[in-house]
Amino acid sequence: MRRPLPTVEQFVQGIRASDRVLLGQAITLVESVREDHQVLAREIIAELLGNAQPSNTLRIAVTGAPGVGKSTFIEALGMHVIASGKRPAVLAIDPSSLVSGGSILGDKTRMERLSISENAFIRPSPSGDTLGGVARKTREAIVLVEAAGFDTILIETVGVGQSEIAAERMTDLFLLLLLPGAGDELQGIKRGIVEMADFLVVNKADGDRVKLANQARGHYLNATHLLPPKPNGWQPQVMACSALENTGIAELWEAIEAFQKHTLATGFLQENRRQQALYWLEDSIEAGLKNMFYKHPAVKAKLAEVEVEVLAGRMSPTEAAERVIGILRY
Ligand code: GDP
Repeated sequence: MRRPLPTVEQFVQGIRASDRVLLGQAITLVESVREDHQVLAREIIAELLGNAQPSNTLRIAVTGAPGVGKSTFIEALGMHVIASGKRPAVLAIDPSSLVSGGSILGDKTRMERLSISENAFIRPSPSGDTLGGVARKTREAIVLVEAAGFDTILIETVGVGQSEIAAERMTDLFLLLLLPGAGDELQGIKRGIVEMADFLVVNKADGDRVKLANQARGHYLNATHLLPPKPNGWQPQVMACSALENTGIAELWEAIEAFQKHTLATGFLQENRRQQALYWLEDSIEAGLKNMFYKHPAVKAKLAEVEVEVLAGRMSPTEAAERVIGILRY
């Protein structure tokens, strides 16, 4: 027989005491598809949110094409952050975790130093049926790791599509990693991602790539100057670093702290988090409604019926949808 799960009280106390076993278990509950796990996870989160939310945390989205050096970079930045007395947590939103096969972010031995540090917490991307589902789980995990005293939350995502939009909606700062010497099209960076960045960081500025890195920096500096100002009033910073040789990391962290100070002073950070919470409320309602709808027995039956008609070309999809939805109209 399996051991019974800890109680809500045990979870809450354990997480507040930074017990990483209980923290990990609580995140597993958030990620679980089981209804009873979901209920327990919600109770734990409700308890933890009851107290004042930590306002001294910084949530950073880190994105960039595969191979740009995200894990190497997060490890270098994370170790620097620890040296300055902070506690980083690394979470991920990996769109490839949707397919049960491998995941882009998960299957390497990553962040070896960071993963053994007792001041850091690393969690691979949850899996799920939809990107929205994966993202909601990661967002809930932020609440848990912050309650456990982690103050620098790094949300890693692959710079190839929708996942960074989700990451942007749960973070205070958006950091895009770039390679020396190639334009964004060549790096597989999707349109609009550069515009979202508060920090554009050219990684691998080492060895014979230093010159190329500087060129790329110049290119992105020009590009960012042409962009309209960001709502947070922050002029995007274009920097270079070598995650491998640990150069440029201290300067970058200083600039990140300046960003935090700036957005706290203007109140943008706080207001942005409030607006983000509203967004996730709406998002969760939509997901919940959809789920409830498709689970409804009458809907299921009607859907099966009209599918046949649509497939046979006897009914238009619009008409069929109206009939299925109409079942729930009173
Ligand atoms: P990810 O796929 O974006 O997470 O990239 P990784 O962190 O796994 O790095 C991909 C490759 O780039 C690895 O071989 C790293 O050693 C290398 N790499 C990462 N950062 C640097 C860097 O600053 N300089 C150099 N020269 N190589 C790097």
